[in-house]
Amino acid sequence: MVYKKLLQIQTSLKAPKSQYNKFGNYNYRNCEDILEAVKPLLKELNVVVVITDDIVFLEGRFYVKATAKLIDIEDGTSIENVAFAREEESKTKMDGSQITGASSSYARKYALNGLFAIDDTRDSDTTNKGENSDKKQKQAIKSTPRNNTVVCPKCGGEMKENITMKTGNVISPEEFISRYGMCDKCKKKEKENLKNAGSDCSRENKDVIQKVS
Ligand SMILES: [Zn+2]
Repeated sequence: MVYKKLLQIQTSLKAPKSQYNKFGNYNYRNCEDILEAVKPLLKELNVVVVITDDIVFLEGRFYVKATAKLIDIEDGTSIENVAFAREEESKTKMDGSQITGASSSYARKYALNGLFAIDDTRDSDTTNKGENSDKKQKQAIKSTPRNNTVVCPKCGGEMKENITMKTGNVISPEEFISRYGMCDKCKKKEKENLKNAGSDCSRENKDVIQKVS
């Protein structure tokens, strides 16, 4: 059963942050880091990961929609997670195909993060050799883009403000929408709807259960 195996992956996966951003002065992990780290577990548990991309056009902007799917090859059950990344219209020194590539790997990473329950905040990193001074944490938060308006794929509304998560981490609108596929207002609404419905699992999970063959 894929859920049992997903639990094992989520509780034992350690994906190192082997990439370094010299402008923001922080370590981070990319899609490849996550896949490399998860491969031994896939083999051990008899599951496969399949990642696919779609380009979605909403409100005059292109989004890359990435789907990460975990399939149990013993019984065919599966679970998937979706993430969005917006195409940047004007990134200097990049041509169209490269922009798609960058957005694609961004969306893929967040699809995997969601699936495997990986915390991707820049400043709670335990693997970067104890170099996380308060100063660096502040820098990481500061480096979060501020004037980055993102259109919500769900309601079409604009999301401008950075969001402070329960953990105290500040994330940009872009990152928020990539993680949840919707703006903070939609997320809040969804939460309230779920509460009102009194359901013990999210609608997404029910969809996935229905898909299981
Ligand atoms: Zn919205």
